[in-house]
Amino acid sequence: MGEPSFTWDYGTDFRFVPWDQLILWPKPLSRIVAQMNWPTLEFFCASEFDSPDEPGSGLIHMNHDFVMKLDQLRARIEVPLHINSGFRTAAWNKRVGGKQSSAHRKGFAVDIRVAQSGRRFTIVEAALAMGFKRVGIGKTFVHLDASLTLSQQVLWLY
Ligand SMILES: [Zn+2]
Repeated sequence: MGEPSFTWDYGTDFRFVPWDQLILWPKPLSRIVAQMNWPTLEFFCASEFDSPDEPGSGLIHMNHDFVMKLDQLRARIEVPLHINSGFRTAAWNKRVGGKQSSAHRKGFAVDIRVAQSGRRFTIVEAALAMGFKRVGIGKTFVHLDASLTLSQQVLWLY
């Protein structure tokens, strides 16, 4: 069976342009632009990726390619995925004890809630098969991220 192949190509992603500071658009307008650019996802809405201290931050800051891959992962395994943590503001990242270099800060990471070993296996197996190169295993969650600047092909424990 041929696996679907894809490349991690962020070359055309303009999401990191700090629109608010650059153009000084009023916030509602930058939100509308972000809403227009948000990819069509079958299983997730942008707010699921919000930093809890900043509603709407998922929409603005999550990497589109990454959330689309996550949507594909969800379609592939056919089980609900609950996002414990997506984007994190600096303050929230500090509060939950995240590393300063955390991919959550850049919208490249999620923690998926996992309550049992079978489900953990399913998620990790699918993620690896799909080409995720950075996986963290916690007692109650699986971390997936697509940072290209942090170490690749790593699987760690919390
Ligand atoms: Zn994480």
